[in-house]
Order: sequence, then C-alpha cells, then structure tokens
Amino acid sequence: MRKTKSLGKWILVVMALSVALTGCTDSDNDNKESSNKQTLVIEHATVVDVRSGKLVSDQTITIADNRISHIGSSGDVKIPKDAQVKDAKGQYVIPGLWDMHVHLEDNYKEAFPLLLANGVTGIREMGAALPRIDEWNKSIQAGMTAPHLVYAGMTLNGGPADDAPHMRYLKTEEEAREAVRINAEKGASHIKVYSWLPRPLFLAVVDEAKKYGLPVVGHLPVEVRAEEAVQLGFKSIEHMHGLFIATSSIEDDIFKNADMSDLAGYSVAEIEASQHYDAQKADKLFREFKEKEVWPVPTLVTYFNMGKTEIDPRSKYVPTAVQERWAETIRAVPPEQTELVATINSLNPGMVKKLNDAGVPMLAGTDSGYELTNLIYGVSLHDELELLVKSGLTPLQALQTATLNPAKYFGREEETGSVEEGMQADLVLLDKNPLEDIRNTTSISGGYPGWEADGEADVGPGG
Ligand SMILES: [Zn+2]
Repeated sequence: MRKTKSLGKWILVVMALSVALTGCTDSDNDNKESSNKQTLVIEHATVVDVRSGKLVSDQTITIADNRISHIGSSGDVKIPKDAQVKDAKGQYVIPGLWDMHVHLEDNYKEAFPLLLANGVTGIREMGAALPRIDEWNKSIQAGMTAPHLVYAGMTLNGGPADDAPHMRYLKTEEEAREAVRINAEKGASHIKVYSWLPRPLFLAVVDEAKKYGLPVVGHLPVEVRAEEAVQLGFKSIEHMHGLFIATSSIEDDIFKNADMSDLAGYSVAEIEASQHYDAQKADKLFREFKEKEVWPVPTLVTYFNMGKTEIDPRSKYVPTAVQERWAETIRAVPPEQTELVATINSLNPGMVKKLNDAGVPMLAGTDSGYELTNLIYGVSLHDELELLVKSGLTPLQALQTATLNPAKYFGREEETGSVEEGMQADLVLLDKNPLEDIRNTTSISGGYPGWEADGEADVGPGG
C-alpha cells in the first residue's frame, strides 16, 4: 500500500467543492486545511478558452465560494485585501478534467487522491456493487476530498451469471425494471447496460429509465443495432463497441450468423466488419449521433494499455499487490488474445478519426480500475487525450472531450467545463501550453492550499 500523504500535498488543483451536479453525491469535499470561504486569486495566468481555442494572456481569476467570481486583465483587477494570491505568470489555466469511464470498486481511497493529483476533478463511475456506493458516499460526507462523482449503480447485464459483483444478471423484464428502480433510488445519474443484455430486457430498461429521467449508456448490447439504440435515446456508447458492425455492409449477415456470445466472438465480428466499411451507412449513423446527441466514449487507452506486454512504469502509483496481479495477468495472456487486442488497437484510431471527421463530439474515458492491466487512475486520462490526438483530433478537440463535452453531456454547460465567470472553480494550472502539445496536460503545477511547487513528483502524472 502506498503511504498516505497530507491532503494539502495531494491537491494539485483548485476545485469547486460545494456545487452538486444533478444526481451526484458531490457533497462537502471541503479541504480540511483551507476555508473555502477565503477568496483565492490567481494572477497573470494565461486562460485556455476551451470553446474557441484562444489563449487569453495575463488574466486574474478571482475565486470566491468555489466559483469563479471574476476574470479580467491583471492590470484592471482589484485584489481583495484578505485574498490568498497565487502568481501564475507563465502558466496556463484549464478547466478540471473529467474521466467519463471509471470503475472505483473499493479503491476509492487510492483513486480519489490520484485522480485529483492528475487534474481529474470529475468522474463518471460506470458500474459498481451497491454497498460500494454507500462506502464512497459515507467517506465523502465525512470530509474525504474527492472529485465530483456521478455513478451508474449496478451494471445491468444478461447471460449466465458469473460472479462480477458490480453486475446484475437479469432474466425477466420485471427484474430489469426493478434493477433500474434500485439504481435510481441509490442516486444513479445514468443506467449502464452491458453486452449480453437481451434486446427485450434492454427495451424494458430504456422504458423504465425514462420514468426516472435517467439516460441509458454503456456497452451496446450485442442483440441491439446501433441504429435502434440511437432512436431509443442511448446516450453514450462505450469503447465504440458495435460501431464497426453498424458501419459495415455486412451488418445483417453478422446479426444473423455471427457468434457474439462472448467478447472474443464479438471482437472477431467487429474485426470482420471493419473490412466491409460502408461510408454511406456511416455518414447516416454519424449524422444521427449528432442530431440525437449520442456520445461515443472511445476509451482507446483501455485496449492500448491492455496490449502492453510489460507493466507500465507508472504502475508504481498503484498498490504493490495490484502491480503484482497485473504482472501475473500480463504473463498469462494467451497469444490469441494478444493478437486480438493488437488488431483492435490497429483499428480503433481509424474509427475515432472517422467520427471526428464527421463532426461527432466524443467523451474521454479510460476504464480505469484495478481489474484491467496498466490502467491507472488519473494517469490514464492523459494517455487517452494523447491517443485521441494521435487518431486525428486537434489538441483543442482532445481537451474538449474531457472538459466542455462532459459539461454538454451533463447538460451543465453553464456550470462546468470551461474557465469563465460564474463557473465552478474546478481549475488546473499547467506549466506548458496544452494546445501546443496535448501531453502538456501532464505539466500540472502548484499545490493547493499554499500553491508552492510541491515537489511531490511521486504523485504527479509522470509527465
Ligand atoms: Zn467499463
């Protein structure tokens, strides 16, 4: 287990702590060592406008009650007498980052500080056992510093039950509706479905979720066509599952004949489909994504990191037992899986490029958790941004997948996702310009409270 450090050292970002997102348990994340009543002023900073990609230099940002109360040219702004002042000359301010696909499991005590240290001030949790949710909520309510958290509750799946504790294996429509109700009552902000949920149960889930005003997201179930899911209001498509099939000329044939009863079979079908790309079908589907606001969450980093044949050196940020488990898993990977993952990694960037060329906005997600090898809370989000750029997004577009786009997804553009007056003060200070090189999102600087360069390279994003 990693040694725990004082909270003050951990927090490398300014966070708006008091404003709850809809359906989230974003309770009092107040940092023990600072009063969030004190006005904080960041002066001489270059603000990165994530809407336009403009850099606005020499700005003074005033933060009061965890909100950006004012932004103006440094020469013009009067600094309140009792304010804590941080000189950010030469530095860049970006909005706090969202990782839109995270699994917290029971790792929250390690995950929260690591996420925050890496500038991730918000996470969308994508499936956990219900008692876990109680644990997170209790800890946050007791004062634990945490990113903004929205969660799914149990993942809704069908097929033969295995013992994944975060999954609910549904057999009947009644069970499906009940599971949605239970998640909703737990405070879920979205309902997550998984690949083997039978179509009739998927329809029941969608119908029940509508009653609670909750979007249905997740793995596109293998029995459901992307086209149908879009029409039903499916809101985010994780890992781009199903998109190769949906944009191929052999979709009918695959739905009739392919064995997609496990992930390997599904991947084989997707790989086969990728050889039969139908540009017209893709255009139509992507246009519908835009019209209906369906968000692909490519999670390129998931397969990319799983494909690494060695343990990532930055795994030193996870507990030793996890490192050992990961090393063991990597050693035991059968060659056919290595090949499958490599093929998927060779295809995924092309799909991201097609989506981006078609103007479909995306969300940054990682699948971080301890189950999959080499996916490290916080660290992986920066890898994802880099992979998105390598797939053809501009650095600005990549930055938007973790800031402005999540805000739009949540319908909270007025609250979060950009550095503007009136917004929650979720801010990250960078030493280098992220629009020049997306890797510069790892050049996170300063500590809060105190704002000294904190010298704890050990918890940084390794950049
Ligand atoms: Zn996941």
